[in-house]
Amino acid sequence: MMYDVAIVGFGPVGALLANLLGRAGHHVLVLERDADIHPLPRAVHFDGEVMRIFQSADLAEPVAMLARSSSKGMRFINAAGELLLERRGVDGVGPQGWANNWYFNQPTLDAALRAGAARYSSVDIRLQHDVTALTKHGEHVTLAVADQSFTARYVVGCDGARSLVRRHIGSTQDDLGLHQPWLVVDLLVNPGSPRAAALPEYTVQLCDPARPMTVVNVGGRRRRWEIMLMPGDRAEAMTDSAVFWPMLSRWLAPTDATVERAAVYTFHSVIARGWRRGRLMLAGDACHQTPPFLGQGMCAGLRDAANLAWKLDAVLYGRAADALLDTYESERAPHVRAFIELAVRLGAIIQATDPAIAEARDEQFRDGGTELFDFPQPQLGPGARIDAEPPVGVIFPQPRLPARHLLDEAVGTRFAVIGRRPILAAVTAATTERWRAADLSIIDDGGPVIDAWLAAHECAALILRPDRYVFGTARTGADLDALTSRLPY
Ligand SMILES: Cc1cc2nc3c(=O)[nH]c(=O)nc-3n(C[C@H](O)[C@H](O)[C@H](O)COP(=O)(O)OP(=O)(O)OC[C@H]3O[C@@H](n4cnc5c(N)ncnc54)[C@H](O)[C@@H]3O)c2cc1C
Repeated sequence: MMYDVAIVGFGPVGALLANLLGRAGHHVLVLERDADIHPLPRAVHFDGEVMRIFQSADLAEPVAMLARSSSKGMRFINAAGELLLERRGVDGVGPQGWANNWYFNQPTLDAALRAGAARYSSVDIRLQHDVTALTKHGEHVTLAVADQSFTARYVVGCDGARSLVRRHIGSTQDDLGLHQPWLVVDLLVNPGSPRAAALPEYTVQLCDPARPMTVVNVGGRRRRWEIMLMPGDRAEAMTDSAVFWPMLSRWLAPTDATVERAAVYTFHSVIARGWRRGRLMLAGDACHQTPPFLGQGMCAGLRDAANLAWKLDAVLYGRAADALLDTYESERAPHVRAFIELAVRLGAIIQATDPAIAEARDEQFRDGGTELFDFPQPQLGPGARIDAEPPVGVIFPQPRLPARHLLDEAVGTRFAVIGRRPILAAVTAATTERWRAADLSIIDDGGPVIDAWLAAHECAALILRPDRYVFGTARTGADLDALTSRLPY
Protein backbone atom coordinates (compact mmCIF):
# COMPACT_ATOMS: atom_id res chain seq x y z
CA MET A 1 0.00 0.00 0.00
CA MET A 2 1.17 3.52 -0.80
CA TYR A 3 0.60 5.83 2.18
CA ASP A 4 0.17 9.56 1.64
CA VAL A 5 2.48 10.38 4.54
CA ALA A 6 4.70 8.25 6.76
CA ILE A 7 5.47 9.83 10.12
CA VAL A 8 8.63 8.54 11.82
CA GLY A 9 8.25 8.99 15.59
CA PHE A 10 5.10 9.07 17.75
CA GLY A 11 6.16 11.69 20.29
CA PRO A 12 3.85 14.69 20.75
CA VAL A 13 4.78 16.23 17.39
CA GLY A 14 4.30 13.06 15.33
CA ALA A 15 1.07 12.31 17.18
CA LEU A 16 -0.36 15.78 16.53
CA LEU A 17 0.57 15.64 12.85
CA ALA A 18 -1.12 12.22 12.60
CA ASN A 19 -4.27 13.76 14.12
CA LEU A 20 -4.31 16.70 11.73
CA LEU A 21 -3.69 14.60 8.61
CA GLY A 22 -6.03 11.82 9.75
CA ARG A 23 -8.79 14.36 10.38
CA ALA A 24 -8.34 15.57 6.79
CA GLY A 25 -8.79 11.98 5.54
CA HIS A 26 -5.22 11.19 4.44
CA HIS A 27 -3.66 7.74 4.63
CA VAL A 28 -1.00 8.06 7.28
CA LEU A 29 1.48 5.53 8.55
CA VAL A 30 3.08 6.15 11.96
CA LEU A 31 6.24 4.19 12.72
CA GLU A 32 7.46 4.36 16.33
CA ARG A 33 10.51 2.53 17.63
CA ASP A 34 9.43 2.11 21.26
CA ALA A 35 6.68 -0.12 22.65
CA ASP A 36 5.50 2.47 25.16
CA ILE A 37 5.24 6.21 25.58
CA HIS A 38 8.53 7.81 26.69
CA PRO A 39 8.19 7.36 30.46
CA LEU A 40 10.22 10.37 31.61
CA PRO A 41 8.18 13.55 31.73
CA ARG A 42 9.99 16.34 29.93
CA ALA A 43 7.63 19.16 28.94
CA VAL A 44 5.39 20.63 31.66
CA HIS A 45 4.08 23.79 29.94
CA PHE A 46 2.32 24.82 26.75
CA ASP A 47 0.76 28.14 25.78
CA GLY A 48 -2.60 29.40 24.56
CA GLU A 49 -1.66 29.17 20.88
CA VAL A 50 -0.87 25.48 21.33
CA MET A 51 -4.24 24.93 23.03
CA ARG A 52 -5.77 26.52 19.92
CA ILE A 53 -3.86 24.01 17.78
CA PHE A 54 -5.30 21.18 19.90
CA GLN A 55 -8.72 22.74 19.30
CA SER A 56 -8.10 22.50 15.54
CA ALA A 57 -7.45 18.77 16.00
CA ASP A 58 -10.69 18.34 18.04
CA LEU A 59 -8.55 17.65 21.10
CA ALA A 60 -9.17 20.73 23.25
CA GLU A 61 -11.60 18.93 25.53
CA PRO A 62 -9.45 15.91 26.45
CA VAL A 63 -6.37 18.11 26.77
CA ALA A 64 -8.15 20.63 29.02
CA MET A 65 -9.10 17.70 31.28
CA LEU A 66 -5.48 16.65 31.78
CA ALA A 67 -3.82 20.07 31.95
CA ARG A 68 -4.08 22.85 34.51
CA SER A 69 -4.44 26.44 33.35
CA SER A 70 -2.51 28.96 35.39
CA SER A 71 -2.36 32.74 35.42
CA LYS A 72 0.56 33.04 37.79
CA GLY A 73 3.46 33.60 35.40
CA MET A 74 7.20 33.19 35.96
CA ARG A 75 9.65 35.09 38.21
CA PHE A 76 13.44 35.25 37.99
CA ILE A 77 14.61 35.80 41.56
CA ASN A 78 18.18 36.23 42.80
CA ALA A 79 19.72 34.53 45.83
CA ALA A 80 18.60 37.46 48.05
CA GLY A 81 15.00 37.11 46.84
CA GLU A 82 15.03 40.23 44.65
CA LEU A 83 12.83 40.05 41.53
CA LEU A 84 14.97 40.50 38.39
CA LEU A 85 12.60 39.58 35.55
CA GLU A 86 8.97 38.59 35.38
CA ARG A 87 6.62 37.08 32.85
CA ARG A 88 3.26 38.16 34.23
CA GLY A 89 0.36 35.75 33.98
CA VAL A 90 -2.90 36.58 32.24
CA ASP A 91 -6.14 35.98 34.11
CA GLY A 92 -8.98 34.17 32.37
CA VAL A 93 -9.20 33.71 28.62
CA GLY A 94 -6.25 35.13 26.65
CA PRO A 95 -6.11 36.41 23.08
CA GLN A 96 -5.97 32.88 21.63
CA GLY A 97 -9.43 32.04 23.02
CA TRP A 98 -7.93 29.91 25.79
CA ALA A 99 -5.94 30.48 28.98
CA ASN A 100 -2.43 31.66 28.09
CA ASN A 101 -0.53 29.01 30.08
CA TRP A 102 -1.16 25.34 30.78
CA TYR A 103 0.78 22.85 32.94
CA PHE A 104 0.70 19.09 32.45
CA ASN A 105 2.52 15.77 32.67
CA GLN A 106 3.99 14.93 29.24
CA PRO A 107 3.32 11.15 29.23
CA THR A 108 -0.37 11.89 30.00
CA LEU A 109 -0.55 14.42 27.15
CA ASP A 110 1.28 12.04 24.79
CA ALA A 111 -1.31 9.34 25.60
CA ALA A 112 -4.19 11.72 24.79
CA LEU A 113 -2.58 12.73 21.48
CA ARG A 114 -2.03 9.08 20.58
CA ALA A 115 -5.64 8.21 21.44
CA GLY A 116 -6.67 11.13 19.22
CA ALA A 117 -4.71 9.76 16.25
CA ALA A 118 -6.22 6.32 16.79
CA ARG A 119 -9.72 7.79 16.15
CA TYR A 120 -9.01 7.82 12.42
CA SER A 121 -9.26 4.61 10.44
CA SER A 122 -6.96 6.10 7.79
CA VAL A 123 -4.12 6.37 10.36
CA ASP A 124 -2.10 3.15 10.68
CA ILE A 125 -0.05 3.14 13.90
CA ARG A 126 2.82 0.66 14.24
CA LEU A 127 4.68 0.59 17.55
CA GLN A 128 8.02 -1.25 17.92
CA HIS A 129 8.85 -0.32 14.34
CA ASP A 130 12.35 1.12 14.25
CA VAL A 131 13.02 2.78 10.91
CA THR A 132 16.59 1.98 9.90
CA ALA A 133 16.83 3.28 6.34
CA LEU A 134 15.04 5.44 3.79
CA THR A 135 15.31 5.10 0.02
CA LYS A 136 14.11 7.91 -2.20
CA HIS A 137 12.44 7.10 -5.49
CA GLY A 138 10.93 9.56 -7.98
CA GLU A 139 7.35 9.57 -6.70
CA HIS A 140 7.70 7.94 -3.29
CA VAL A 141 10.01 6.93 -0.45
CA THR A 142 10.63 3.45 0.95
CA LEU A 143 11.12 3.06 4.71
CA ALA A 144 12.93 -0.03 6.00
CA VAL A 145 11.89 -1.58 9.34
CA ALA A 146 13.65 -4.87 10.17
CA ASP A 147 12.73 -7.18 7.27
CA GLN A 148 9.68 -5.14 6.22
CA SER A 149 9.41 -2.12 3.97
CA PHE A 150 6.73 0.56 3.62
CA THR A 151 6.15 3.17 0.93
CA ALA A 152 4.77 6.67 1.23
CA ARG A 153 4.54 9.79 -0.94
CA TYR A 154 6.01 11.95 1.82
CA VAL A 155 7.96 11.17 5.01
CA VAL A 156 7.99 13.49 8.02
CA GLY A 157 10.73 12.83 10.57
CA CYS A 158 9.25 13.60 13.99
CA ASP A 159 11.97 11.37 15.34
CA GLY A 160 13.48 13.63 17.96
CA ALA A 161 16.91 15.07 18.62
CA ARG A 162 18.87 12.17 17.08
CA SER A 163 16.71 12.10 13.95
CA LEU A 164 17.46 9.49 11.31
CA VAL A 165 15.41 11.44 8.75
CA ARG A 166 17.58 14.51 9.42
CA ARG A 167 20.66 12.46 8.56
CA HIS A 168 19.03 11.35 5.31
CA ILE A 169 18.19 14.95 4.44
CA GLY A 170 21.82 15.85 5.19
CA SER A 171 20.90 18.97 7.20
CA THR A 172 23.53 20.98 9.00
CA GLN A 173 22.79 22.63 12.36
CA ASP A 174 23.10 26.25 13.52
CA ASP A 175 24.41 26.25 17.08
CA LEU A 176 23.02 29.06 19.26
CA GLY A 177 25.61 28.38 21.93
CA LEU A 178 23.87 26.98 25.01
CA HIS A 179 24.64 23.37 25.96
CA GLN A 180 24.34 22.65 29.67
CA PRO A 181 23.43 19.60 31.77
CA TRP A 182 20.62 19.99 34.32
CA LEU A 183 19.11 17.53 36.79
CA VAL A 184 15.32 17.24 36.55
CA VAL A 185 13.45 16.00 39.63
CA ASP A 186 9.71 15.41 39.71
CA LEU A 187 8.17 15.09 43.17
CA LEU A 188 4.69 14.12 44.33
CA VAL A 189 4.03 16.26 47.40
CA ASN A 190 2.20 14.92 50.43
CA PRO A 191 -1.25 16.54 50.68
CA GLY A 192 -0.86 17.23 54.41
CA SER A 193 2.53 18.95 54.17
CA PRO A 194 2.40 22.65 55.20
CA ARG A 195 5.70 23.30 53.39
CA ALA A 196 4.28 21.84 50.18
CA ALA A 197 1.14 23.97 50.59
CA ALA A 198 3.38 27.06 50.85
CA LEU A 199 5.18 26.41 47.54
CA PRO A 200 4.63 29.29 45.09
CA GLU A 201 1.97 28.99 42.40
CA TYR A 202 4.17 30.85 39.89
CA THR A 203 7.27 29.35 38.29
CA VAL A 204 10.50 30.31 40.07
CA GLN A 205 13.77 30.75 38.19
CA LEU A 206 16.21 30.95 41.09
CA CYS A 207 19.23 32.88 39.80
CA ASP A 208 21.50 31.81 42.65
CA PRO A 209 25.11 31.57 41.40
CA ALA A 210 25.76 28.88 44.02
CA ARG A 211 23.07 26.62 42.43
CA PRO A 212 20.68 27.86 39.73
CA MET A 213 17.29 26.13 39.85
CA THR A 214 13.79 26.20 38.38
CA VAL A 215 10.69 25.28 40.41
CA VAL A 216 7.37 24.58 38.65
CA ASN A 217 3.93 23.77 40.02
CA VAL A 218 2.96 21.16 37.43
CA GLY A 219 -0.47 20.56 38.95
CA GLY A 220 -2.14 18.03 41.21
CA ARG A 221 0.52 16.76 43.61
CA ARG A 222 3.34 17.07 41.06
CA ARG A 223 6.11 19.65 41.47
CA ARG A 224 9.18 19.96 39.21
CA TRP A 225 12.71 21.02 40.19
CA GLU A 226 15.33 21.62 37.51
CA ILE A 227 18.79 21.97 39.03
CA MET A 228 21.85 23.09 37.10
CA LEU A 229 24.93 20.88 37.29
CA MET A 230 27.98 22.82 38.51
CA PRO A 231 31.59 22.22 37.52
CA GLY A 232 32.74 19.08 39.35
CA ASP A 233 29.24 17.54 39.61
CA ARG A 234 29.09 13.99 38.28
CA ALA A 235 25.88 13.39 36.29
CA GLU A 236 25.61 9.76 37.52
CA ALA A 237 25.73 10.85 41.18
CA MET A 238 23.21 13.69 40.82
CA THR A 239 20.13 11.47 40.53
CA ASP A 240 20.82 10.00 43.99
CA SER A 241 18.19 11.46 46.34
CA ALA A 242 20.82 11.76 49.09
CA VAL A 243 22.62 14.21 46.78
CA PHE A 244 19.69 16.32 45.60
CA TRP A 245 17.41 16.50 48.67
CA PRO A 246 19.76 18.93 50.51
CA MET A 247 19.56 21.22 47.44
CA LEU A 248 15.78 21.49 47.91
CA SER A 249 15.99 22.26 51.64
CA ARG A 250 14.87 25.89 51.29
CA TRP A 251 11.51 24.53 50.14
CA LEU A 252 10.95 20.91 51.18
CA ALA A 253 12.32 18.02 53.26
CA PRO A 254 12.15 14.32 52.27
CA THR A 255 9.11 13.88 54.55
CA ASP A 256 7.12 16.35 52.41
CA ALA A 257 7.11 14.42 49.13
CA THR A 258 8.02 11.25 47.28
CA VAL A 259 10.38 11.27 44.35
CA GLU A 260 8.65 10.31 41.12
CA ARG A 261 11.84 10.33 39.08
CA ALA A 262 15.17 12.11 38.63
CA ALA A 263 17.18 12.31 35.41
CA VAL A 264 19.97 14.43 33.95
CA TYR A 265 19.28 16.09 30.57
CA THR A 266 21.65 18.23 28.57
CA PHE A 267 19.82 21.29 27.28
CA HIS A 268 20.78 22.36 23.75
CA SER A 269 20.09 25.31 21.48
CA VAL A 270 20.27 24.29 17.81
CA ILE A 271 18.31 24.81 14.60
CA ALA A 272 18.72 22.61 11.55
CA ARG A 273 19.34 24.10 8.10
CA GLY A 274 17.46 21.88 5.69
CA TRP A 275 14.02 20.87 7.00
CA ARG A 276 13.01 19.48 3.62
CA ARG A 277 14.64 17.62 0.82
CA GLY A 278 12.21 16.43 -1.82
CA ARG A 279 9.82 14.04 -0.15
CA LEU A 280 11.55 14.10 3.26
CA MET A 281 10.70 16.68 5.92
CA LEU A 282 11.41 17.27 9.60
CA ALA A 283 9.33 18.56 12.52
CA GLY A 284 9.85 19.07 16.25
CA ASP A 285 13.09 18.26 18.09
CA ALA A 286 14.35 16.69 14.85
CA CYS A 287 14.89 20.20 13.47
CA HIS A 288 15.29 22.42 16.56
CA GLN A 289 16.08 22.16 20.25
CA THR A 290 15.80 24.84 22.91
CA PRO A 291 16.73 25.03 26.57
CA PRO A 292 13.41 24.85 28.46
CA PHE A 293 13.57 28.23 30.26
CA LEU A 294 10.48 29.45 28.37
CA GLY A 295 8.72 26.05 28.27
CA GLN A 296 8.48 26.29 24.48
CA GLY A 297 10.37 23.35 22.88
CA MET A 298 7.40 21.06 22.32
CA CYS A 299 5.22 24.10 21.58
CA ALA A 300 7.51 24.94 18.64
CA GLY A 301 7.24 21.37 17.34
CA LEU A 302 3.45 21.50 17.57
CA ARG A 303 3.50 24.78 15.60
CA ASP A 304 5.61 22.99 12.97
CA ALA A 305 2.94 20.30 12.70
CA ALA A 306 0.16 22.90 12.34
CA ASN A 307 2.13 24.73 9.61
CA LEU A 308 3.02 21.58 7.71
CA ALA A 309 -0.39 19.87 8.00
CA TRP A 310 -2.41 22.38 5.95
CA LYS A 311 0.28 22.55 3.29
CA LEU A 312 0.58 18.76 2.97
CA ASP A 313 -3.22 18.57 2.88
CA ALA A 314 -3.39 21.06 -0.02
CA VAL A 315 -0.61 19.31 -1.96
CA LEU A 316 -1.97 15.79 -1.38
CA TYR A 317 -5.45 16.79 -2.56
CA GLY A 318 -3.91 18.49 -5.62
CA ARG A 319 -5.11 21.97 -4.63
CA ALA A 320 -1.57 23.36 -4.43
CA ALA A 321 1.73 22.61 -6.13
CA ASP A 322 4.43 20.68 -4.27
CA ALA A 323 6.45 23.95 -4.08
CA LEU A 324 4.11 25.09 -1.28
CA LEU A 325 6.07 22.70 0.97
CA ASP A 326 9.20 24.81 0.39
CA THR A 327 7.58 27.59 2.43
CA TYR A 328 7.60 25.40 5.54
CA GLU A 329 11.21 25.93 6.60
CA SER A 330 11.44 29.50 5.33
CA GLU A 331 8.44 30.40 7.53
CA ARG A 332 9.08 28.30 10.60
CA ALA A 333 12.87 28.60 11.06
CA PRO A 334 12.94 32.36 11.87
CA HIS A 335 9.86 31.93 14.08
CA VAL A 336 11.36 29.21 16.27
CA ARG A 337 14.69 31.08 16.31
CA ALA A 338 13.03 34.01 18.12
CA PHE A 339 11.95 31.66 20.93
CA ILE A 340 15.31 29.90 21.17
CA GLU A 341 17.24 33.20 21.22
CA LEU A 342 15.09 34.46 24.11
CA ALA A 343 15.50 31.14 25.96
CA VAL A 344 19.28 31.37 25.48
CA ARG A 345 19.27 34.95 26.82
CA LEU A 346 17.24 33.86 29.87
CA GLY A 347 19.63 30.93 30.24
CA ALA A 348 22.59 33.32 30.40
CA ILE A 349 20.83 35.20 33.22
CA ILE A 350 19.93 32.17 35.33
CA GLN A 351 23.07 30.17 34.59
CA ALA A 352 25.55 32.83 35.84
CA THR A 353 27.65 30.98 38.41
CA ASP A 354 30.52 33.44 38.88
CA PRO A 355 29.48 35.46 41.99
CA ALA A 356 31.01 38.68 40.61
CA ILE A 357 29.14 38.32 37.30
CA ALA A 358 25.91 37.47 39.13
CA GLU A 359 26.34 40.54 41.38
CA ALA A 360 26.90 42.80 38.32
CA ARG A 361 23.76 41.29 36.76
CA ASP A 362 21.72 41.94 39.91
CA GLU A 363 23.05 45.51 40.09
CA GLN A 364 21.96 46.09 36.50
CA PHE A 365 18.41 44.94 37.29
CA ARG A 366 18.37 47.02 40.52
CA ASP A 367 19.26 50.09 38.44
CA GLY A 368 16.85 49.34 35.61
CA GLY A 369 14.04 47.85 37.75
CA THR A 370 12.36 44.49 37.21
CA GLU A 371 12.25 43.64 33.52
CA LEU A 372 8.92 42.41 32.21
CA PHE A 373 9.04 39.94 29.35
CA ASP A 374 6.54 37.79 27.50
CA PHE A 375 6.54 35.00 24.95
CA PRO A 376 7.59 36.46 21.62
CA GLN A 377 4.95 36.64 18.90
CA PRO A 378 7.28 36.56 15.92
CA GLN A 379 6.44 36.96 12.29
CA LEU A 380 6.78 33.86 10.12
CA GLY A 381 9.63 34.11 7.64
CA PRO A 382 8.81 34.65 3.96
CA GLY A 383 6.57 32.01 2.40
CA ALA A 384 2.85 31.52 1.87
CA ARG A 385 1.96 35.07 2.85
CA ILE A 386 2.18 38.59 1.47
CA ASP A 387 5.60 40.15 1.85
CA ALA A 388 4.72 42.90 4.35
CA GLU A 389 5.38 43.99 7.92
CA PRO A 390 3.47 42.47 10.88
CA PRO A 391 0.64 41.84 11.53
CA VAL A 392 1.07 39.92 8.24
CA GLY A 393 2.64 36.56 9.11
CA VAL A 394 1.66 36.79 12.79
CA ILE A 395 -0.88 34.64 14.64
CA PHE A 396 -4.35 36.24 14.67
CA PRO A 397 -6.38 36.35 17.92
CA GLN A 398 -9.35 34.05 18.48
CA PRO A 399 -12.26 36.07 19.91
CA ARG A 400 -15.83 34.93 20.36
CA LEU A 401 -17.94 36.15 17.47
CA PRO A 402 -21.25 37.94 18.05
CA ALA A 403 -22.97 34.58 17.32
CA ARG A 404 -20.97 33.35 20.37
CA HIS A 405 -18.85 30.83 18.48
CA LEU A 406 -15.09 30.97 18.86
CA LEU A 407 -13.64 32.32 15.60
CA ASP A 408 -11.96 29.04 14.59
CA GLU A 409 -15.20 27.08 15.08
CA ALA A 410 -16.86 29.39 12.59
CA VAL A 411 -13.94 29.34 10.15
CA GLY A 412 -13.11 25.61 10.11
CA THR A 413 -9.78 24.44 8.66
CA ARG A 414 -9.58 26.64 5.58
CA PHE A 415 -8.63 30.12 4.48
CA ALA A 416 -10.94 32.86 5.72
CA VAL A 417 -11.63 36.40 4.69
CA ILE A 418 -12.54 38.60 7.62
CA GLY A 419 -13.56 42.22 7.36
CA ARG A 420 -16.10 44.99 7.43
CA ARG A 421 -19.14 44.42 5.25
CA PRO A 422 -18.63 47.38 2.89
CA ILE A 423 -15.13 46.28 1.87
CA LEU A 424 -16.20 42.65 1.38
CA ALA A 425 -18.97 43.95 -0.88
CA ALA A 426 -16.53 46.18 -2.81
CA VAL A 427 -14.57 43.35 -4.45
CA THR A 428 -14.98 42.22 -8.05
CA ALA A 429 -17.19 39.32 -9.10
CA ALA A 430 -14.01 37.39 -10.00
CA THR A 431 -12.80 37.71 -6.39
CA THR A 432 -16.12 36.53 -5.01
CA GLU A 433 -15.99 33.58 -7.39
CA ARG A 434 -12.45 32.77 -6.30
CA TRP A 435 -13.56 32.76 -2.63
CA ARG A 436 -16.39 30.40 -3.53
CA ALA A 437 -14.19 28.09 -5.60
CA ALA A 438 -11.51 27.96 -2.90
CA ASP A 439 -14.19 27.40 -0.23
CA LEU A 440 -13.04 30.41 1.78
CA SER A 441 -14.89 31.11 4.97
CA ILE A 442 -16.32 34.65 5.06
CA ILE A 443 -16.68 36.52 8.34
CA ASP A 444 -18.31 39.93 7.87
CA ASP A 445 -19.47 40.50 11.44
CA GLY A 446 -16.44 39.87 13.61
CA GLY A 447 -17.56 41.86 16.63
CA PRO A 448 -15.65 44.32 18.80
CA VAL A 449 -12.32 42.43 19.15
CA ILE A 450 -11.92 42.07 15.40
CA ASP A 451 -13.08 45.65 14.81
CA ALA A 452 -10.46 46.86 17.29
CA TRP A 453 -7.80 44.71 15.61
CA LEU A 454 -8.65 46.14 12.18
CA ALA A 455 -8.57 49.69 13.57
CA ALA A 456 -5.26 49.10 15.36
CA HIS A 457 -3.70 47.86 12.12
CA GLU A 458 -5.32 50.52 9.94
CA CYS A 459 -7.03 48.08 7.61
CA ALA A 460 -10.58 46.99 6.84
CA ALA A 461 -10.11 43.30 6.03
CA LEU A 462 -7.62 40.45 6.20
CA ILE A 463 -7.17 36.96 4.86
CA LEU A 464 -6.38 34.32 7.45
CA ARG A 465 -4.58 31.08 6.64
CA PRO A 466 -5.81 27.66 7.82
CA ASP A 467 -3.21 27.80 10.63
CA ARG A 468 -4.63 31.17 11.77
CA TYR A 469 -1.63 33.25 10.71
CA VAL A 470 -2.39 36.44 8.81
CA PHE A 471 -1.90 35.97 5.06
CA GLY A 472 -2.36 39.67 4.25
CA THR A 473 -4.40 42.77 5.06
CA ALA A 474 -6.44 45.13 2.87
CA ARG A 475 -7.72 48.69 3.16
CA THR A 476 -9.90 48.77 0.05
CA GLY A 477 -11.84 46.43 -2.19
CA ALA A 478 -9.06 46.70 -4.77
CA ASP A 479 -6.48 45.65 -2.12
CA LEU A 480 -8.64 42.66 -1.30
CA ASP A 481 -8.87 41.72 -5.00
CA ALA A 482 -5.07 41.85 -5.22
CA LEU A 483 -4.67 39.84 -2.01
CA THR A 484 -7.08 37.18 -3.23
CA SER A 485 -5.14 36.80 -6.48
CA ARG A 486 -2.03 35.93 -4.42
CA LEU A 487 -3.63 33.02 -2.52
CA PRO A 488 -1.57 29.82 -2.90
CA TYR A 489 -4.69 27.96 -4.07
C1 LIG B 1 13.67 18.76 31.09
C2 LIG B 1 12.86 19.18 29.91
C3 LIG B 1 11.82 20.06 30.09
C4 LIG B 1 11.05 20.47 29.01
N1 LIG B 1 10.03 21.33 29.23
C5 LIG B 1 9.27 21.76 28.19
C6 LIG B 1 8.12 22.57 28.42
O1 LIG B 1 7.78 22.90 29.55
N2 LIG B 1 7.38 22.95 27.33
C7 LIG B 1 7.69 22.57 26.06
O2 LIG B 1 6.98 22.98 25.12
N3 LIG B 1 8.76 21.75 25.83
C8 LIG B 1 9.53 21.31 26.85
N4 LIG B 1 10.55 20.44 26.64
C9 LIG B 1 10.83 19.97 25.26
C10 LIG B 1 9.91 18.81 24.83
O3 LIG B 1 9.92 17.77 25.76
C11 LIG B 1 10.36 18.31 23.47
O4 LIG B 1 10.51 19.43 22.61
C12 LIG B 1 9.33 17.36 22.85
O5 LIG B 1 9.19 16.19 23.60
C13 LIG B 1 9.78 16.97 21.43
O6 LIG B 1 8.77 16.20 20.83
P1 LIG B 1 9.05 15.40 19.48
O7 LIG B 1 7.78 14.69 19.20
O8 LIG B 1 9.65 16.32 18.49
O9 LIG B 1 10.21 14.39 19.85
P2 LIG B 1 10.25 13.19 20.92
O10 LIG B 1 9.30 13.44 22.03
O11 LIG B 1 11.69 13.01 21.26
O12 LIG B 1 9.71 11.93 20.12
C14 LIG B 1 10.47 11.33 19.10
C15 LIG B 1 9.95 9.92 18.90
O13 LIG B 1 10.58 9.36 17.75
C16 LIG B 1 10.87 8.00 18.02
N5 LIG B 1 11.94 7.60 17.10
C17 LIG B 1 13.20 8.10 17.03
N6 LIG B 1 13.89 7.51 16.03
C18 LIG B 1 13.06 6.61 15.46
C19 LIG B 1 13.20 5.70 14.38
N7 LIG B 1 14.34 5.60 13.69
N8 LIG B 1 12.14 4.90 14.04
C20 LIG B 1 10.96 5.01 14.73
N9 LIG B 1 10.79 5.86 15.77
C21 LIG B 1 11.82 6.65 16.13
C22 LIG B 1 11.28 8.00 19.48
O14 LIG B 1 11.17 6.71 20.06
C23 LIG B 1 10.28 9.00 20.07
O15 LIG B 1 9.11 8.36 20.51
C24 LIG B 1 11.35 20.01 27.71
C25 LIG B 1 12.40 19.10 27.53
C26 LIG B 1 13.15 18.69 28.61
C27 LIG B 1 14.25 17.72 28.39
